[in-house]
Amino acid sequence: DRSHNGRQPKANMEELDAALRQMADSLMPTPEERAAQMEAFEWVKSLLQARYPGAGVHLFGSVANGLSVRHNNDIDVCLELEGVDDQAGKAEVAGVVGELMEAAGMAEVLPLPKARVPVVKFVVPRTGTKVDVTVNNLLACINTKLVADYCAIDARLAALVALVKHWAKQRAVNDPYRGTLSSYCYVLMCIHLLQTRPTPVLPALQQLQPTFRRAVGQWTCEFCDNIEALRGFGAVNCESLAQLVWAFFEYWAWRHNYSHDVVSVRLGACLHKDDKDWTRRIGNERHLASGGPAACPPACRCLPSDVCIEDPFELSHDLGRTVDRQTRAVLHKEFTRAATLLRDADDPLDLLFAPY
Ligand code: ATP
Ligand code: MG
Repeated sequence: DRSHNGRQPKANMEELDAALRQMADSLMPTPEERAAQMEAFEWVKSLLQARYPGAGVHLFGSVANGLSVRHNNDIDVCLELEGVDDQAGKAEVAGVVGELMEAAGMAEVLPLPKARVPVVKFVVPRTGTKVDVTVNNLLACINTKLVADYCAIDARLAALVALVKHWAKQRAVNDPYRGTLSSYCYVLMCIHLLQTRPTPVLPALQQLQPTFRRAVGQWTCEFCDNIEALRGFGAVNCESLAQLVWAFFEYWAWRHNYSHDVVSVRLGACLHKDDKDWTRRIGNERHLASGGPAACPPACRCLPSDVCIEDPFELSHDLGRTVDRQTRAVLHKEFTRAATLLRDADDPLDLLFAPY
């Protein structure tokens, strides 16, 4: 479908923008929800520090970077222990933490020591807060800071993320365990969009002179965290929230080159899959038959094959790898549905966010 070229949404953009802003505001957690999350965190922290005196206990994820939305009572907690570096050590601690939480009266305790990142899941009964505890998950703490720094540069990021996360939940495409994408992945997709507007709203912090440096295993995490100097970076871009929401869906429906491109927030641009050696997952039969993705012409827009999103620090980690043949079709259908509604409907919002 190339009929979108040059098209703009049919709705009155000012009205659409006002409605989307109001919706983004209404998605922010209430003070009561925040208080409950902090209460849950303090309790978990005291239990962990009683068992591991001197250990660091950090909050990360959306509650820590300002991107949590209402009615999502989840917190992500990282236990920082010296000398526990390998997978086996982390798995063992996950087992111990599971027993500890069970004994403390937590509900639904579920240790997953064999996960890529060993984790213990449980629910704090008094507040109903769902907690994930991971061990020495430093990369996640650092990417939480990176995202928080991006949020501080331009307020449109948090609003766009709130709407995209809400849309993804409503449309049932926010579940990496079922083949769709994690919240973190959607956050990176939003940052990418804002970095790649014709006039960028966000810089690529990892391309600027680094003021923050941390080595985690084989990965070097470096970026500019001098946010004061960058505040107002996006002010030359005057796009409204409505225009950015439209741009997001239009990009993922019709513009992103699924066969070639890897989204890289690190670079503030797309990489070619050949450069990443992620071509194993390319699926366009016509081009495969003619010699693989390398045979695709540069402007090729062959059928969606895969969503490839590079983690900003763990460069071998593709956040889109949860997507398979069937779910990538579902995802693309949802992006196209959203873009088409925005393009053609006079009043698209009820349908756009309608439960699947
Ligand atoms: P939500 O509000 O839906 O919980 P979130 O931003 O907390 O959103 P989660 O999926 O709960 O996202 O992930 C929590 C944090 O863990 C992320 O902010 C990120 O720092 C880290 N994280 C999650 N998934 C990955 C991943 N696949 N690779 C690297 N880090 C990840
Ligand atoms: Mg979370």
